[in-house]
Order: sequence, then structure tokens, then C-alpha cells
Amino acid sequence: MILRRVWAVMGLGVAILAGTTLAFAGGGQGADSQAKLGFDVANMNKTCKPCDDFYKYVNGGWMKNNPIPAQYPAWGPGQIMFERTEARLHDILEAAAKTSAAAGSNEQKVGDYYASCMDTKAIDAKGLKPIDGDLQSIAAMHDGASLLETAARLQVNGTGVLFAYGSDQDFADSTQVIGEVRQGGLGLPDRDYYTRDDDKSKEIRKQYIEHMTKMFVLMGDAQDKAAAEAQTVLGIETSLAKASLNNVELRDPQKIYHMMSVADAQKLTPKWNWDTYFRAIGSAELSKMNVAQPEFFKAMDGLLTSVPMEDWKTYYRWQLIHRSARLLSDPFVQENFNFTGRVLEGTTEMRPRWRRCSAAVDDGLPEALGQMYVAKYFPPAAKARVLEMVHNLLAALHEDLKGLEWMSPETRKAAEEKLQAFALKIGYPDKWRDYSKLKIDRDSYAGNVFRATEFETARDLAKIGKAVDHAEWGMSPPTINAYYNPQLNEIVFPAGILQGVFFDPDRSDSYNYGAIGSVIGHEITHGFDDEGAQFDPKGNLKNWWTEKDLKNFGERGECIVKQFDGFEVEKGLHENGKLVEGESIADLGGLTISFAAFQKSIEGKPLGGKDANGFTPDQQFFVGYAAMAAMNLRPEYARLLANTDPHPLPEFRVNGPMSNMEAFRKAFGCKSGDAMVREGACKIW
Ligand SMILES: [Zn+2]
Repeated sequence: MILRRVWAVMGLGVAILAGTTLAFAGGGQGADSQAKLGFDVANMNKTCKPCDDFYKYVNGGWMKNNPIPAQYPAWGPGQIMFERTEARLHDILEAAAKTSAAAGSNEQKVGDYYASCMDTKAIDAKGLKPIDGDLQSIAAMHDGASLLETAARLQVNGTGVLFAYGSDQDFADSTQVIGEVRQGGLGLPDRDYYTRDDDKSKEIRKQYIEHMTKMFVLMGDAQDKAAAEAQTVLGIETSLAKASLNNVELRDPQKIYHMMSVADAQKLTPKWNWDTYFRAIGSAELSKMNVAQPEFFKAMDGLLTSVPMEDWKTYYRWQLIHRSARLLSDPFVQENFNFTGRVLEGTTEMRPRWRRCSAAVDDGLPEALGQMYVAKYFPPAAKARVLEMVHNLLAALHEDLKGLEWMSPETRKAAEEKLQAFALKIGYPDKWRDYSKLKIDRDSYAGNVFRATEFETARDLAKIGKAVDHAEWGMSPPTINAYYNPQLNEIVFPAGILQGVFFDPDRSDSYNYGAIGSVIGHEITHGFDDEGAQFDPKGNLKNWWTEKDLKNFGERGECIVKQFDGFEVEKGLHENGKLVEGESIADLGGLTISFAAFQKSIEGKPLGGKDANGFTPDQQFFVGYAAMAAMNLRPEYARLLANTDPHPLPEFRVNGPMSNMEAFRKAFGCKSGDAMVREGACKIW
């Protein structure tokens, strides 16, 4: 499993369910129109006291005045920024589609990719044709060998049958890339959707059955047959789900690392021949690999015997249409949205085609489009300012470690070493991905998406057995997000997040430290959260803590787990403290470290007291953080996030950490007994 810890999953629904990795979308001017002051008091709800509910105090007005547009599951300043970024990508794409760029150039490829996506007339005329070949392969399956060959063929183009195979950095040897098989094969967002027994989950499964039935009918099956097929798929997926680890278990690196010889993996799955599979999918032959979830593969092997061939065909067909629907003619696009957009996220309208197509190019050709984006929109001055903040934050954590009373000198020394070894990536990659071998044309949108996915799969598999490439990026440059990767011990900030409500070179530093500074701190402290702390400075899964310190640290984490277990999302649904532990430790750590760095940065400088909004510099810091987290969410989407996302909901990401902070209490004069002053406050960093 690639363990990148991101800042946020804003737009997760659009992103994951609609199958693109980047998916906030956009065109608003909200971030630009913010007063030079850094914050517009019209966004506040002044009838709410800061010590009662700080999130509402800062954002109540904004939330009231910015209802969620019909096309979105959630709406906040981050989404508005994304709309603007997407409008910029759109400009680039429209221009590229109109010019006759040199054949084979990146400009030709992004232009044609976009144009093919916009050509709905051609897409509608083709109907199911783009997946004809795959459907025929499925229909021709007749034995274990053809079942395996077809799985490989489908996985290569992004169809998630049975499980996932790809490269990963070896947890035990951070210099090497290994092959890894992971649990998968589901059509719903998470294994819990299949196993939960509450009314809401049952209702979603019922709607999933209806959705699958409609899709089978659209593919030409009779109603009765389609309904039976949907039941068959749910049965197979439920068996796979029951054998899968849940999302809390998946956060534990020890639980997902089972390096074994291919011969041993073969004993685990006698019905599935790994050597044949590697050949079929175009991977180098392996002697050993990580079987991330052995119990899952054991169960899958059992199903290979117990499930009849006709049922496998049905399941494969479903997975294929589930992956391809949004690339096909309008009825498929509509029905796909009916379920993933309406049912799972509560969205009522589809985003305009040009937005979906802009996101699709960013997803398919991330570094070709990204290169064009930064050339036009990323000022080098922003990079220098952010770099300075990063260095100040690293220094602040270093300082913090020195004064940490619960950590022994031994562990502290190791932590300092890890901090020294941090790698930084800001803006965009030094070395761009080479797309020269990828063919993109205007003939078929689905053809382009499949080829781009195959290209990406081949690129990924080619890394297996080689040395780790430290120059690689895991996000496209326009992405409004950031991540820490414990395996490379690096923090990464794409150009997209270095703007607007996160970072504005024209406003006072107090707001910037509160916003982007806390994001930077968040990513840095991921290196020391319940998961990141298990990796050494070189990215090996290796303990560097003394037993006593680890116990101390664990107890402090428990405090966070308890606090977040207490937050209610809706009646009967609470945050899952264990699921959000790492992100919440990072939120509290990020704010703490950034506040310290901010204090350090203003040492000896005259501050000038309150700003025109009446906020002191310390208050501005906290307002800057809370404003960045403002968000309206549909209840369906809030439920989806609470069930699957390791980040707490935005209001808890503000009120949770701040109610633990003495600096916050002091800044707003909160008293013990106030809701924003937590009894038995959690303190880690
Ligand atoms: Zn995070």
C-alpha cells in the first residue's frame, strides 16, 4: 500500500467515485475577492461566541451565504479555488485543442484527449463499442486459465476485478521497489458498505442492486435476467468484502506487509497461478512479493472453486461497465451518476461536461497538463516564500522536540535525525514524466482513457525490481492538496495549494501561518503520527522508539481517539476515533508547530496590534486556519466521509484541535467550562 498522507479529501466523492484522482472543480472568484486584510468578517457568525463554537463563529456567515451548488457533494473555499484552477486548465485545454500542435507533442496529446472527451456526438454514436473486445473476452471465458488471463487484461485498463497488483517500496528495504498484491474487487466505496447491518446501509445496498440491474439492462439484458445478475454480483462482492481488512486495519503497516516467495504465495492460492498471471499482465517475473492481505487471497482462491463460471462472467461484466460507464454514451453516464452522484453523495446535478473533461485530462496526463499549468500560473516567488515557511516550521518542531517532557533523550535524538532527513518537494517535479510512447488521438475518448491507464500501469509495473526513484511525484501540480510520504520521508506541496485561502503573499503572515503553515505542519507531523512514527528516517518500517516512549505516545494518541469518538456526525453516527487518529494528531501537531513558528517569525518585529477587523495577530492565526476549513456538506456525503475518510469532518478539524490548545484559549480569552476548552486536553507535540 502506498502510504501517502494527504491534507484533505475535499471532493473525494467526485474524485474516487467518478474515477478521477483530482476532482475539485471550478470557477468562483471567492478567494480573490477576499479583502487584502486576509479575511472578510461577513463570513462570520458573530452571534456565536468564539469560545462556544469557533468553527461556526468564523464560518457561520459564509456557510449561510454559500449553499452547495447542485453539482457538488460539498462546498467550501477549497472547492472555489478548485473551480478557478479548473477554469485555468480549461483555458489551456481549449487552446491546445484548437491549435495544430506537432504530432506526438504533449500539447497535441492534452488537446486531443480533451477534444475526444468533449465530442459527445462521436461518443454517443459508439454506444458500447469501446468495450466490445473486453466483453467478448469475458463471454469466452471457460476455465481457470481464461479467468486469469481476462482478469489481467481488465486490470491493466483500470477495471478492478478481484484484486489489485502494482509496485510499492519495500517496507523492509526502502531502496527497493517490489511487486505487491492488495485486496480489491468491490463496486461500493468500502468493505463496510457490504457488512454493516443498519437501515441506511441496507437501503444503499438495495439501491446498488437497482443500479446494477439498470446497467445490465442498458447492456442489453432482459429485466429479469438483469435483476438476478445484480444479486449474483452482490453475492461475490460481499464474499470478497468479508475477507477484506477494514479501513482502520489498513492503516496499520504491520498488518499489510507479508513479504513471501512466489512459491509460498502459490501455496496460499493453489487455484491462481502467479507466474502465469505476471506474464499475462506484463510484469517481470518475481521471486518474492508482498501479499498485503493473505486472508483475502485465501478467500478469493476458495471462491475460484465455489463460484460457477457463468457467475464470474456476470461479475466481470459488472466491473467492466462500472469502470467504463462514464466513458460511454449518455445513458451509461446518466445511470452511473444516478448512483455514484445521487445515492452515494447526495449530489443532484452532474457537473458540466467541460469540467469533467478537464479533470479527466488532469487524471490521464497529469504531468503533461501540469507542466503547461505551472508555466503559466505558478510564480517562482510563491515557491520561495513557502520554502521559507517550511524551514521555519521544521525549526519549530526541532525546538519543540527539545522541550518535550514525555520523550526520552534517546528517542528524541532519533526523531531529530528523522526531521533532518526530511525531503521537500514544492510546486512541481524537477523531472517530468515522458509520454512519448503514449498514443493519444481524437478517434475515441474511451480509447484514450484506456491507453493512458495502460501506459500508467506499464510504467508502474516497470519499476518493480528496480531502485526507488526519489524524484517521483504522487500528485499532479494543479492539485489543491499536499501529502507526506513516510516511505520517502518527504513532504510534497503541489503548486495548486499555494494560493487563495491557503496562501496569499499579499496578506499578513499571521493568516498564512494559520492556513498553509498549519497544512505544512500537518504534513510534517505525519512523519510522527501513529503510522508515520513506525518508519525510520530512510523510510524503513523499523521501530526507533524506546518502549516507554512508544507507550507514552500511544496513550496520548488514545486521548485523541476518545475525543473524536465523541463527535457526532448525525444521530447514531459518530466519528470513528481510531480511523481519524493519524489525521487528528497531524491537525493538532500542525497547528501547534505552525503557531510556534509564527511566534518565532515575529520575534523583534513591531506587530501593530489589532487589524481593521479587530483581530490580534494571534487571533488572525486561528481565524486563518478555521476559514480554510469552511465547508457545507450534504448529509449523504458527510456520512460517506465519516465511514471511509481518515480525516474528520471540517468542523471537528477546527474545534477538535483548538479546544486542546492553550494558545487558542489565551488568544480568545476562553475560560474553563467553555465548549472550546477541553477538560483533560490532549497534548502531543
Ligand atoms: Zn493528513
